[in-house]
Amino acid sequence: QILSGCDRRFDVIIAGAGMAGSCCAAALARLGLTIALIDPGPVPNWHPDDYQLRVSALNLASENILKSVDAWPLISTLRVSPFRQIEVWDAESTGRLTFNAADTGLSHLGHIVENIAVTSSLIKRLSATKNVRLWLNDRIEHIDSGTEDLSVRLASGETIVATLLVGADGTASTVRQAAGIELDERQYEHQAIIAHVVTEKLHQETARQRFLPTGPLATLPLSDGRSSIVWSATPELHDTLAALNDEAFAESLTDALEGR
Ligand SMILES: Cc1cc2nc3c(=O)[nH]c(=O)nc-3n(C[C@H](O)[C@H](O)[C@H](O)COP(=O)(O)OP(=O)(O)OC[C@H]3O[C@@H](n4cnc5c(N)ncnc54)[C@H](O)[C@@H]3O)c2cc1C
Repeated sequence: QILSGCDRRFDVIIAGAGMAGSCCAAALARLGLTIALIDPGPVPNWHPDDYQLRVSALNLASENILKSVDAWPLISTLRVSPFRQIEVWDAESTGRLTFNAADTGLSHLGHIVENIAVTSSLIKRLSATKNVRLWLNDRIEHIDSGTEDLSVRLASGETIVATLLVGADGTASTVRQAAGIELDERQYEHQAIIAHVVTEKLHQETARQRFLPTGPLATLPLSDGRSSIVWSATPELHDTLAALNDEAFAESLTDALEGR
C-alpha cells in the first residue's frame, strides 16, 4: 500500500501489539494522538473451542485500565473467570496468607483471562479507531532516531515517522536494543510446566500458590471448572515431572498442593 506523506507521520509508534502495546495504543488514542501499532504476528483470534494455555490473573487495577479504554465489556463477553480468594502458603515454614474479596466488601479480586481474549478485544477496538493504524504481519527493520523525529523502516518497505517510539515488543525487544538499553541477564535455573488440569475438588474460585523449595506452584481457577497451573521447578524436577504419565503427574501435583 502506498502511503501519502501525512499517512506516514504519527505522534507515537508502538512496537508490539501484545497486552502492553495494544493497551498503550488504546489509552494514547483516547487522548487524540495518532498512533501506529506494529507487530509481526497475525490478527489475534480468540476461539471458544480452544481454551488457550496462556492465561493471566488480572487484578482490579488492570480491569479498570481495560474498562477505561472500553475493552473490558468485549473481553467479558468472551471467557473470563472470577477469582474471589487467594491462598498463598510456604512449604518450608508455617507462613500462610489468605485474601478474600468479601472481607473488604468486593465481589471479586480479579479475573483469569486468556491473553488472546485481551489482545483480540483490544485489536478489535483499535481497528475501529480512526486515529490508529495497525501494521500486523509486519516488523521493524531499522530505526533512525533523529534529533526531533525518529523514522522507522518496516519489513514491508514503508517508512513511518513519529516523535515517540514505544517499545512493547517483548523480551527480545528491538526497540530496547536500538535505544542501547543494556540487560543484566542471569540464569535462575528454573523451568515451568504450564497446563490446564481437571481436579476432584471444586476450585471454589480461589487462586492458590505454594512456595516449594524447588520453586513456586500456582493454580488459577478457570471458567470451565478446570484449573490452570504454572509449576516452576529446578531443571531436574522439571525433567522428572515432564517424563511422568498423567496419573503419576496428577499424584505429584496433589502432593505438591497438599491435596488442596
Ligand atoms: C507462565 C506465565 C504466567 C503469567 N501469568 C501472569 C498473570 O497471571 N498475570 C499477569 O498480569 N501477568 C502474567 N504473566 C506475565 C504476562 O504474560 C506478561 O507480562 C505480558 O504478557 C507481557 O505483555 P507484553 O505485551 O509486554 O509482551 P508480549 O506478550 O511478549 O508481547 C510482545 C509483542 O511484541 C511483538 N514483537 C516482537 N518483536 C517485535 C518487533 N521487532 N516489532 C514489533 N513487535 C514485535 C510480539 O509478536 C508480541 O506480540 C505471566 C507470564 C508467564 C510466562
